[in-house]
Formats: sequence, structure tokens, C-alpha cells
Amino acid sequence: MPLNKNGVMIILSSPSGAGKTTLVKMLSQIDNFEISVSHTTRLPRVDENPGRDYFFIDVNEFQRLIKNQEFLEYAKVFNNYYGTTRTPVIDKLDKGKNVLFDIDWQGADQIKNKKLDYKLITFFILPPSKEVLYDRLQNRDMKDKRIVADRMKQFERDVLHWINYDYVIINDQLDLCFEKINNLIQAEMNNGSKDYDLEFIRNHINKLTN
Ligand code: ADP
Ligand code: 5GP
Repeated sequence: MPLNKNGVMIILSSPSGAGKTTLVKMLSQIDNFEISVSHTTRLPRVDENPGRDYFFIDVNEFQRLIKNQEFLEYAKVFNNYYGTTRTPVIDKLDKGKNVLFDIDWQGADQIKNKKLDYKLITFFILPPSKEVLYDRLQNRDMKDKRIVADRMKQFERDVLHWINYDYVIINDQLDLCFEKINNLIQAEMNNGSKDYDLEFIRNHINKLTN
């Protein structure tokens, strides 16, 4: 099966609150791009819809899916299970759709290690600063201060995984960030030249982690 007839897999990961879900939704507006909707055992947020944002299921159902080997990848994140079922993803890719994944570094590693016959592009999204990240988490998860504190604590550990991704992108101004990701995807798909400064990213990571 020639690679270029199939769709491309595009993974976005990030420390929680950096903006990957927002960016995945924006990218899904591009013609021929579709989101892989994950299963999770966590409860829905107020603005989330079942089947659109996640398939919300209980632990028993999640374990049944594990046992039946239905997951392409799955992981425990913040005390809840999250996973991507294989069949819908492969169906989309075989129809030539580009599939967007909003998954954590554990899931990204698992998909990478599977070395599937589809092109894979991976992005790690970073906030401009820890202060901005804190503000974004607070705006989103206002009702639960514990969630914000947990996710800020987890940031230090999550950020270390940037090294395993093809591209690291700073989400400062949303539209510019979207444009940067879109340009890199188009360049990857068309073998074009890539506008990417790894040294700048290394400096930013140093600032975030010191
Ligand atoms: P993640 O999926 O990485 O946890 P979200 O996409 O849920 O993050 O974004 C966290 C919050 O920050 C949301 O309320 C979102 O609207 C907001 N947000 C995302 N990107 C930006 C940005 N560039 N500027 C301002 N707010 C943003
Ligand atoms: P949230 O609860 O904020 O929606 O997501 C928490 C974390 O779980 C995020 O890092 C998100 O990318 C990740 N996540 C969401 N769906 C999946 C999935 O199917 N697999 C994996 N491995 N992680 C996921």
C-alpha cells in the first residue's frame, strides 16, 4: 500500500493547559482533517459533549476494551484512563483522511513504537511561560483549585518529554501558533522546506525549567 494515498497521523501533546485541545479543534477545520475521539474514564467538563470531545465510559468498560485489544494505545493520566481505539483511526487513514490525536506522551510513544504504515508527525506544545500556563488552567478549571495545583506540579515532569517529538511549538498567540503547525504539516506532506528553529526552542525549555 503506497504511503501517500493514505492519510497522515498528526499527534499533539503538551503539558496540561498549554492549548493542544484548542489547536487540535482548529486544525480539524482544515479540509480532510479529522480528530480521533478518545475514550476516557474521567468525568465530562461542563462544556464537553459525549462522542464529540470524548467517549466517557466507566473503568469496567475501559478494562473490557483493553482485554479485547481494541486500543491502538492507552494510558493512565491524572488517575484516569485515556485510550484511542484502533478501528476508527485505521478506517479514516485508509480513506485518505488525516487524523489528529490529542494524546499524552505515553500514547505518543506507543503509537511511534508501533511503526504503522502511515506517515506520523508529532508536535509538543509549550506555554510561553509558567505564569501564563497557570492563568490558562485557572480559567479552564476554575471550580477545582486542586486540579490546577496538580497539573502545575505535573508540568515539571511532562515538559521533559519534548525531546521525543518532531517539533516543539510555543503557543503564545493562538492564530500564529496554529499557522506555524499548519505550515509544518503542509511542508511535511509535500516535502517542502521547514521553518523551525531548534535552538530557540532549547532556550525556551531552559527558561521554563529553571
Ligand atoms: P490542553 O488541551 O493543552 O490541556 P486547552 O486547549 O484546554 O489545553 O487550553 C487551556 C485553556 O487555555 C483553555 O481555556 C483555552 O481556551 C486557553 N487557550 C489555549 N490557547 C490559548 C492562547 N494561545 N491564548 C490564550 N488562551 C489560550
Ligand atoms: P484532559 O483530561 O485535560 O482532557 O486530558 C488529560 C491528558 O490526557 C492530556 O494530556 C490529553 O492529551 C491526554 N489524553 C487524552 N486522550 C488520550 C488518549 O486517548 N490517550 C492518551 N494516551 N492520552 C490521552
